[in-house]
Amino acid sequence: MSRTVIHGGLVVTASDEIHADVLIEGGRIVALAAHGTDAATSWSADRRIDATGMYVLPGGVDAHTHMEMPFGGTYAADTFETGTRAAAWGGTTTIVDFAIQTMGRSLREGLDTWHAKADGRCAVDYGFHMILSDVNESSLKEMDRLVAEGVTSFKLFMAYPGVFYSDDGRILRAMQRASGNGGLVMMHAENGIAIDVLVEQALAEGRTDPRYHGDVRKVALEAEATHRAVQLARVAGAPLYVVHVSADEAVDEIAAARHKGLPVFGETCPQYLFLSTDNLAEPGFEGAKYVCSTPLRPREHQEVLWRGLRNNELQVVSTDHCPFCFSGQKEMGRGDFSKIPNGMPGVEHRMDLLHQAVVDGHLSRRRWVEIACASPARMFGLYPKKGTIAPGADADVVIYDPGAEQTISAETHHMAVDYSAYEGRRVTGQVRTVLSRGVPVIEDRAYVGHAGHGTYLPRGTCQYL
Ligand SMILES: [Zn+2]
Repeated sequence: MSRTVIHGGLVVTASDEIHADVLIEGGRIVALAAHGTDAATSWSADRRIDATGMYVLPGGVDAHTHMEMPFGGTYAADTFETGTRAAAWGGTTTIVDFAIQTMGRSLREGLDTWHAKADGRCAVDYGFHMILSDVNESSLKEMDRLVAEGVTSFKLFMAYPGVFYSDDGRILRAMQRASGNGGLVMMHAENGIAIDVLVEQALAEGRTDPRYHGDVRKVALEAEATHRAVQLARVAGAPLYVVHVSADEAVDEIAAARHKGLPVFGETCPQYLFLSTDNLAEPGFEGAKYVCSTPLRPREHQEVLWRGLRNNELQVVSTDHCPFCFSGQKEMGRGDFSKIPNGMPGVEHRMDLLHQAVVDGHLSRRRWVEIACASPARMFGLYPKKGTIAPGADADVVIYDPGAEQTISAETHHMAVDYSAYEGRRVTGQVRTVLSRGVPVIEDRAYVGHAGHGTYLPRGTCQYL
């Protein structure tokens, strides 16, 4: 069995920071020993990685990506191959993507389609959530089977009427089913019926620029939907995970629910922490690059999100990676912001941006690892195989240089999209080497992985319940 030793680094997990050497055998972590001790120096190994001056982190877990997702007549620009390669470059070694149920079809058919897209193409490991578009007797029954085989979370939409939207009755039925089968309902919480009225009115009045995308998707309509989702989950006796929380008042709703002891969880994304409506208002249709839903908010919301992450009102930072090229895709919405494909690239830069938050004093190092690695793994039934560095865990390990400086740019990123939402941003910290189950994927800033290394991960149920 091949043995690797990572020596001299600072191992950072959600709970500890220790100067320890790490022994990897057959794709798993088998031991940690204090650096410089006889125990550590006696290890024989086929490969030794010097991590002096570096952090040794568990591989990132991005629980919200949309590779090759169909939206508004086009597809997200990253395939499972390009998207997981970009993830690896950024120190993310697990993604959980969303298989989609087509209206009128079974969950199984949607899941099979997504397996076919991903199978044999991923550079790192991957699992699936299921998007429930059509809640009916047969899809409710199918939920039980999916949970049993490792697809344990189901996304529903209070937004996008006519596409993914479910009304309150359908949402309640799905939540009741989840409360019985151990599934976790993930909610896109925005009042899409009301938003569509405001979209129609804005367009009729000639307000067609990208900035109005943010205008019509009101804070109140995110907060209202979040509140309603919490109450429906409470009635159903089900846990709830609210995806891409962007508004301060939505954080308040989640905090209030948690204060009551309800099993309600919240996720936010780097774009809400680092970007704002100022970006949406960039001139010359540049704002289209930042069109996503929930939308970017005025800058003052950021401090509430950071506080939520520190206080554990929000537990996870995922990317909602859903890239569309500016040229040819985002441009479909020139003259009508409602036709701009919703989504932004981000899978490559989540770990770095959150490290910058450590440098800036928003988060501790351990909280960084917790919200980016450990909590998403626990939330979606992958811990401790993923999300930590401990004996028995998969050897998904990132050697991270905390002092390296880099400038984020479309010129140098690895996502298959023609712009960066963070173009020109200087950040401190960079991935040096990445192992996936003990196998190098990135080695000293060179890609040495391959499509098909990544394997499918059947998941357990939420480990916070
Ligand atoms: Zn999404």
